[in-house]
Amino acid sequence: MSTHSTTAAPGSPAAPSTLITGIGSLVTNDTAHGTGPLGLLTDAAVVIDAGTVVWVGPAGAAPDADERFDAGGRALLPGFVDSHAHLVFAGDRTAEFNARMSGQAYSAGGIRTTVAATRAATDAELDANLARFVREALHQGTTTVECKSGYGLTVEDEARALRIAAGHTPETTYLGAHVVAPEFADDPAGYVDLVTGEMLDACAPYARWVDVFCENGAFDGDQARAVLTAGVARGLTPRVHANQLSYGPGVQLAVELGAASADHCTHLTDEDVAALAGSATVATLLPGAEFSTRAAYPDARRLLAAGATVALSTDCNPGSSFTSSMAFCIAVAVREMGMTPDEAVHAATAGGARALRRSDVGLIAPGARADLLLLDAPSHVHLAYRPGVPLTAAVWRAGVREL
Ligand SMILES: [Zn+2]
Repeated sequence: MSTHSTTAAPGSPAAPSTLITGIGSLVTNDTAHGTGPLGLLTDAAVVIDAGTVVWVGPAGAAPDADERFDAGGRALLPGFVDSHAHLVFAGDRTAEFNARMSGQAYSAGGIRTTVAATRAATDAELDANLARFVREALHQGTTTVECKSGYGLTVEDEARALRIAAGHTPETTYLGAHVVAPEFADDPAGYVDLVTGEMLDACAPYARWVDVFCENGAFDGDQARAVLTAGVARGLTPRVHANQLSYGPGVQLAVELGAASADHCTHLTDEDVAALAGSATVATLLPGAEFSTRAAYPDARRLLAAGATVALSTDCNPGSSFTSSMAFCIAVAVREMGMTPDEAVHAATAGGARALRRSDVGLIAPGARADLLLLDAPSHVHLAYRPGVPLTAAVWRAGVREL
């Protein structure tokens, strides 16, 4: 514990420690320090210092700090961990969304529209676009965001997407296998060779994860396996777009290869559910995609009942889920997917951290990164109870008050 009774020397960049007190309801996600799966505390306080949480407990027992912030009885929770987003792109697909909402079906091929716009954009345009979305998410309480490539589909365009993404987040994912590049429409095997060869070589230095869209119209099970195992051989850890639009081999492949996460999980057999429940692979649900494609939602209740770890994420992308709001995803998950408010908040914080294999985010406990979301509400339940209402009162990222 640090109480920092001494102040930093003039001109020192060291940030002062801060005591956040008067927290009406605190979600710690630390079951050792609070009640229930959310580790809830009431009338609580938190001390942050040098970007880290250093103390959590009852307000009456809090140590002193350089500065004091009165939460005024409102709810504090860990910043959201958005473990699935596609934010390096240009253009939008308003017309496609409008057409789909007028009765046309969604297929994976719409991705190619964004590929053309992204290839035509400058580095500066892509970087500014990404910065805007990271900021937009931050204003809604998201303090960790994963970002995938996948709208370049050439060696140069995929590598630059990841290079740009790496300037904004360490959670970068190589998704050269998003769809087959248009130049390889008649030679998908040739494209898989590129993705597992020269493109991987160019992208691996900027990526932590390797991903593949395992789906009819994208990549089949054998192709997905080739992509993921090639990435693993280069030191990347797999995650999979699995079972979104139809039943398929994606979930089983993810579990077999020890993927951190199987994402979407909308069409699952009993065997798929059992495989997830018996593994460390997180089931990441992306209700923005079903919302924006007017499709049936995944059954979170079924996964939770089986014992699987569930994460919620935005899938923010211009085609099938153009939202950066984790609060929106929580509200939909509660209303449409059988999750309780507590489960949904847990999935959007601790669940996302598990999906990124991070132990320093998604919780408020000593040693955790000081990523905090103060709600303009007395309880985290309001995230589902007050859908569509902006509830962000303050956000700290790595101890820095961002708004
Ligand atoms: Zn996605």
